[in-house]
Amino acid sequence: MVHFVGAGPGAPDLITLRGAALLERADQVIYAGSLVNPALLERCRPDCRVRNSAHMTLEQVIAAIEEAEAENKMTVRLHTGDPSLYGAIREQMAELDARKIPYDVTPGVSSFCAAAASLNAEYTLPGLSQTLILTRMAGRTPVPERESIELLARHGASMALFLSAGMLDELQEELLKGAYTEDTPAAIVYKASWPEEKTLRCTLGTLAETARSEGISKTALVLVGDFLSADFARSCLYAPGFTTGYRKGTDAT
Ligand code: SAH
Repeated sequence: MVHFVGAGPGAPDLITLRGAALLERADQVIYAGSLVNPALLERCRPDCRVRNSAHMTLEQVIAAIEEAEAENKMTVRLHTGDPSLYGAIREQMAELDARKIPYDVTPGVSSFCAAAASLNAEYTLPGLSQTLILTRMAGRTPVPERESIELLARHGASMALFLSAGMLDELQEELLKGAYTEDTPAAIVYKASWPEEKTLRCTLGTLAETARSEGISKTALVLVGDFLSADFARSCLYAPGFTTGYRKGTDAT
């Protein structure tokens, strides 16, 4: 059996209890070494076979899983953050399906959640935005044209950009073609939840320059939107006047 497990954003205590228990039981762990904190591997049994998928192709990952399956051994496939985002898990699942190898998925804390936590931010603020767009710049992996940054930026919604920290001049330019302005608040969060984490608040107009001055070009999330500003409206949910299924407000007749 294969367990896809979300490792969380970096801090070793931000893996789920279920993910940690699976790591402790695993006969083999194949971890995404470019981003998973190796401190998590301290949970593995001493006889656990540990492989770093940063040095492997899909074929090699599947071969390693098949080898373990032949000996009735359990594999944890450890992905950074939550595996459903830029995790390349579907292609692995297709190969496992073809071989009738069973698997399941344990979710993880995505880096966009950890980045918001580091900034004490809330993506969905009343009156500002009730939508969060998770996306990326096109790189060697193309992005469908209908999802270009320029088009998505027209919404002026809260946005978290993965895999784009090396292209901030272009990103800034594309974002400015939408509803955001030079003054729209932005932030760069480098290695959220790691000891070396950096949080840089800036505006969209100074995004690329801010990253450059701190030497940041990877392992960072870019956040953009008015949710990062100090101005927002109170929620209805907790307003004294607002009646809900659980609480009678002063608006009740
Ligand atoms: N599945 C992961 C994303 C993998 S894609 C998740 O849910 O977070 C890799 C990209 O994620 C990086 O380029 C970076 O943009 C972002 N990322 C991953 N871990 C991060 C962290 N700790 N801090 C900031 N960004 C991170």
